[in-house]
Amino acid sequence: MQPHTGSYYAATVNEVTDYAPLQGDQQADVCVIGAGFTGIATALTLAERGYSVRVLEANKVGWGASGRNGGQMIGGIAGEKHLRKVCDADMLWQMHWRGHDIIAERVEKYGIHCDLKYGYVDVAIKPRHLRDFQEEFDYLESHGFEYEHRMLDRDETREMIGTSAYLGALLNMRNGHLHPLNLCIGEARAATGLGVSIHEGSEVLRIEHGARPKVVTAEGSVIADSVVIAGNAYHLVEPKLRGIMFPVNSFIIATEPLTENQVASVNPHDLAICDPNFVLQYYRLSADKRFLFGARINTFGDDPAYIAKHHLPLLLRLYPQLEGIGVDYAWGGTIGVPLHRVPRIGRVAPNVFYSQGYSGHGVNVTHLAGEIMADTIAGTLERFDVFAGIKSTRFPGSHTFRKPLVALGVLYHQIRDKL
Ligand SMILES: Cc1cc2nc3c(=O)[nH]c(=O)nc-3n(C[C@H](O)[C@H](O)[C@H](O)COP(=O)(O)OP(=O)(O)OC[C@H]3O[C@@H](n4cnc5c(N)ncnc54)[C@H](O)[C@@H]3O)c2cc1C
Repeated sequence: MQPHTGSYYAATVNEVTDYAPLQGDQQADVCVIGAGFTGIATALTLAERGYSVRVLEANKVGWGASGRNGGQMIGGIAGEKHLRKVCDADMLWQMHWRGHDIIAERVEKYGIHCDLKYGYVDVAIKPRHLRDFQEEFDYLESHGFEYEHRMLDRDETREMIGTSAYLGALLNMRNGHLHPLNLCIGEARAATGLGVSIHEGSEVLRIEHGARPKVVTAEGSVIADSVVIAGNAYHLVEPKLRGIMFPVNSFIIATEPLTENQVASVNPHDLAICDPNFVLQYYRLSADKRFLFGARINTFGDDPAYIAKHHLPLLLRLYPQLEGIGVDYAWGGTIGVPLHRVPRIGRVAPNVFYSQGYSGHGVNVTHLAGEIMADTIAGTLERFDVFAGIKSTRFPGSHTFRKPLVALGVLYHQIRDKL
């Protein structure tokens, strides 16, 4: 079992979890593999509906991307242009925001302290980004979107977020940001309160398929009516699922806390900010006013000193007024990106389901996915079928060649970002 990374989030958790590893042969209605947002949201939804659930986690609750991410809660599903061709428009609009509703409901219902705040801007680097934001704005308008949302010109953007680096922006007050690890741990606590058994340090070694599949760890097993694989880019169970998305690394630094003047100068409205590049930059302030700055790097290294050395100049290019700021934390994680970007939701056997590959938009969509998994197990397949109906584009090349191919793919996107 690996402990949490040396992230800002791990250093500020509300609770250090200590769920006992799986021992002996157990039974459940549903066995969930992976205790990130997907696994925990699935387990919690099922428990709310009266199912008995066991969650098996190789490491710790929220150890994967769910406990390391930028904490930006962004509406919409990656690859929506593909979904629009096959999905009813009203259903898609409902799914666009469903994860937000689930998070808000759970934060309220279970009293989860995860610093949830609303306010977000998409920032434009190129004129084409402004055109895309205008389309998104029109989409919101066409649905009578009742939350504050508006296009910002260059000056308004600078006033709002303290940098003149962008051509303009789209402000959306329905999106927001939160402490992801505290959300995940709080949801896990809520799930156990409803009877879910969570086992940390319980890596699943194999699934023995059958009428009641058996999920096997080193020290035990769970026989269940259904299994949900929620290991995302970290999963090790069904290698054939790996080829349907490629792993991309993203890294974040957390500075020392800003002074009041610095906060007023860089982000007075406490917004989450994200650019639309593939090799994107995303940032916000933490509850204790550290600057959390994330960016993707085309590398497989995760040495904190290297991450800080790479990220700090990028941050200072946007905010030269922070010259001299210290970096207290640096960490990274792995994102699963399907080639066509649409999350991969499907089954590997009649009673073994999976949900993965949210392309860096998982805070919202994993919560939707947990509900879709729970519906599917109950026999309601409407939303499951939308995703399962979109064929996976298999990543070319054997496992050996995958890393260099991924590096090439990221390079391709880096060049495209510059056009
Ligand atoms: C650095 C970074 C920044 C990001 N920023 C954002 C953001 O700002 N906004 C946003 O919406 N999304 C963001 N994302 C994406 C988001 O974090 C993910 O989409 C989401 O957390 C995926 O959740 P998950 O539960 O599917 O997977 P994970 O959280 O990765 O969880 C998978 C879990 O499965 C476990 N596991 C794997 N194999 C096994 C096995 N064999 N047995 C038992 N357990 C196993 C792993 O240990 C892990 O804990 C970011 C991701 C990263 C890495």
